[in-house]
Amino acid sequence: MEKRKTLLLFNILIFTFLSIFVLSEKLNISGNTIIDNNEEIIAVDNSVDITDNEKVITNITTTTVPSLQDSYEEEMETNINFQLPDSDGVDIYTSKISIYSTEEQTILSKIIPGISLEQGCVIENINEIENQWINVLEANVYNEEKINFSLSVESSLPIDPSCFSNFITSILNDKRGWTTIVGKEFQVVNYYDADFHIFIANPDTVDEMCFPLQTNGIYSCRNGNQIIYNYFRWLAGAKDFGLDIATYRLYLINHEVGHMFGWGHTDCPSQNALAPLMMQQSKTTGGCIPNGWPIYERITYLYESVDNFK
Ligand SMILES: [Zn+2]
Repeated sequence: MEKRKTLLLFNILIFTFLSIFVLSEKLNISGNTIIDNNEEIIAVDNSVDITDNEKVITNITTTTVPSLQDSYEEEMETNINFQLPDSDGVDIYTSKISIYSTEEQTILSKIIPGISLEQGCVIENINEIENQWINVLEANVYNEEKINFSLSVESSLPIDPSCFSNFITSILNDKRGWTTIVGKEFQVVNYYDADFHIFIANPDTVDEMCFPLQTNGIYSCRNGNQIIYNYFRWLAGAKDFGLDIATYRLYLINHEVGHMFGWGHTDCPSQNALAPLMMQQSKTTGGCIPNGWPIYERITYLYESVDNFK
C-alpha cells in the first residue's frame, strides 16, 4: 500500500513537472523564449532608445541651436559692451611709466601752426548740396611712401571741408603726432585711392556707420578702415576735458587714428600724470590730465628698451 502511494506521488510529481514544462513552453517563458523575448525587449529597448535618441537629438537640436544663438547674441552684446565707447580697442594695456606736464607745456600742446583747435572749422552756414557727403578732392596721387587717407564731411554739417582737410593733415603731420611714430607723412587722396577713410558725421549717421559697434549717438569710432568722428562730440567735447575743447579735438583725431595703426586702449598710470592718448578719455581721464598727443605711444614705440604697454 505504501509503495503504491509512493508510486502515485512520484507519478503526480512527474506529471506536475511535465505539466509545468509544457505549460511554460506554451506560455513562452522557457529559456529560448526568454532569450527571444530578451531580443524582443532589446529590440524594443533599441527602438525605445532610438526614439529616445531621436528625442534627445531633437531636443539637443532644438535646445542647442537657440542656446548657441543665445550665447552668440550674448557674446555679441558682451562684445558690444566691451567695445563701448570708442568701440574698437580690444585689450586695455597699463602704462608702466607716468609722464607729467607743466602748465606751460599744456598750453603749448594746443598750438599747431596754421590751424585753430578752438575754432575747429565750424562755420555759420551748412553746405547746401544734395549729396550726403562732401568728399575732399585733393590733387595728391597715391604715394606708397606716405599714409594716404580720404576725407568726407556730411553735407548737412556746418564744417568747412577744406579747412577740415588742413586741420586733420596738420595734426597728423605734426612732429608730436603719429607721423613721427609711423615714420611716414600723411596726405589726403581721393576716396578710391585711400588706405583708410575719415568722415565727420551727424550722430545718427555715426551710429549707422559704426554698427555693430554701439556709439549711441554720442561716441565716435574706428570701424574697419573707416574713422567716423561724431559732430556732437566735435562740439561738446567730454566731461573730464571741461571747457578745453582744443585738447578734446586733438585727442579725438589722434585717438581714432591710433586704432588704425593697431593701438588698443590703455589706462591712467597715476594721478595727475598725462592721460595716454589711447586711454578712453571720452569716458573718463581717471585722475589723469587730458592729453591729445601720442606721447606714451611714442616712447613705447621709439624706445623698445622701455617695456611699456602695447
Ligand atoms: Zn578707442
